Amino acid sequence: MSEKSSIMPEDVHRLLGKDAQRNNIFVARMVAEIVKTTLGPRGMDKMLVSPTGDITITNDGVTILEEMQIEHPAAKMMVEIAKTQESEVGDGTTTAVMIAGKLLENAEKLLDKKIHPTTITKGYRLASEKSQEILKDISLRVTPNDIDILKQIAMTAMTGKGAEDAKERFAEIIVQALRQIENNGKIDLNDIKIEKSKGNGIKDTELISGIVIDKEKVSHDMPTLVSNAKIALIDFPLELKNPEIDTKISITSPEQLQGFVMQEEREIKGMVEKVKISGANVIFCQKGIDDFAQYLLAKEGTYACRRVARSDMEKISKATGAKIVSNINELTPFETGNAQTVEEIKHGTDSMTYITGCQNPKALTILIHGGTEHVIDEVERAIKDGLGDVSCVLQSELVVPGGGAVEIELARRLREFSNGLFGREQLAVEEFASALEFIPITLAENAGLDPIDILTELKSRHDSGERNAGLNLFKNKVENMLEAQIIEPLKIKSQAISSASEVANMILRIDDVIASTGKGQDFNMKKEKEMYDEF
Ligand code: ADP
Ligand code: MG
Repeated sequence: MSEKSSIMPEDVHRLLGKDAQRNNIFVARMVAEIVKTTLGPRGMDKMLVSPTGDITITNDGVTILEEMQIEHPAAKMMVEIAKTQESEVGDGTTTAVMIAGKLLENAEKLLDKKIHPTTITKGYRLASEKSQEILKDISLRVTPNDIDILKQIAMTAMTGKGAEDAKERFAEIIVQALRQIENNGKIDLNDIKIEKSKGNGIKDTELISGIVIDKEKVSHDMPTLVSNAKIALIDFPLELKNPEIDTKISITSPEQLQGFVMQEEREIKGMVEKVKISGANVIFCQKGIDDFAQYLLAKEGTYACRRVARSDMEKISKATGAKIVSNINELTPFETGNAQTVEEIKHGTDSMTYITGCQNPKALTILIHGGTEHVIDEVERAIKDGLGDVSCVLQSELVVPGGGAVEIELARRLREFSNGLFGREQLAVEEFASALEFIPITLAENAGLDPIDILTELKSRHDSGERNAGLNLFKNKVENMLEAQIIEPLKIKSQAISSASEVANMILRIDDVIASTGKGQDFNMKKEKEMYDEF
């Protein structure tokens, strides 16, 4: 039933009851459908073209959904699941969205059988809680010293993500970096800076102890290498004030103008002098440094970079102990920081500044090399997935078998659990179980295998007690995932299942959509309704 209420203005659209529900479910399913083909090591990539023509080629669920600029409110809720997954765990975004989509699809079957939405949501909630219990039971403990296992986790996270050629090297970098920044079981991923450099191949990607920034020294006359660097961070310009913009002066003679300029130059000289007094031989300036200041600094043998991003300034501050000063008079030796070397290093046509041997050993940079921007960006996403997964494991120390093994075991035990329930919630728990099986089904489908054969084999192996049996897509065979070393952090699965079921329940409870489309036509319900009827 679609209606327009007389109590609301003309341009307000309203969908009620079943229409609202079905429309939302349809849209959420479409979102899941979009990311489905990217799941797993054999998943395909998507090419996304932005309104300005920028191209992104990716396999990463959250990136796809963010770039798509989705507008329908229910679809946006699905995108939110991916974003939460990304921020909480850093991986498992496709899985989370797919489970939510399947939960809604299965809920629709129950709605068709005239089961009330609140019964479904109750069953789903029970199943989701039970899943967490089962997950704890089937997870395994890993210690931070199990380096090989940590590397395997990083590699599983990166499979199928354009990082294939250098997976082992990346896994090594990821594990080494995280172990270095770990502090009593706590990890702040912000301690690892990711910088990108075009040129060379992805295998040249390196882990650097220190900070690398994508800036070159401002003047050729400055040294390329400074040892025992004393670093000053300043966020004001080292420039002559532009009289046309900043000040109003009336000048009546050439001498007066000359005098004015000299006065300004004296000021710059004074600033450079104060830098010298502070003992700094390296300057990172957030604003501009003009020619005259460059000249003076170069003469002093100082290394300087200008227009350094605020985020880089903060990272350098944390790494070297330098404080960011906003006024030249605040700059004293106490505000400077230390590093063994600051050096300009050339890669291809671009130069970067390396700050190494920092006071704080936890400052690290992963410098990704690659032939083109698209390659580098996809490698960055893969490395971030790896960092997310391994840091999860270092913090919670719990892992589960991948390749669909957890999902099959969960489904099996949820069905057992549902046998003990009464009433119609039982049906909802069963649908929840079959929604989880959608993951191994899709892994098989995306690899061109017969999903029914695979599912049957997986189920029977689990029924006979092989709870780690999953689909190994390196061999296209069902086998023990721990032996095949296809393992993932527990948190990926626990987070994906809980947020997927929360959102599915939230969408199921909506029976009225009131959309004010006056401003910019937020979404077109009529169009979606037509698509829905076709689907
Ligand atoms: P997500 O965005 O959900 O992380 P991915 O495309 O990264 O999606 O795929 C993750 C899925 O791929 C997980 O279920 C994981 O167990 C599975 N997987 C990873 N490596 C393998 C493998 N070698 N064989 C089978 N499944 C794998
Ligand atoms: Mg992944």
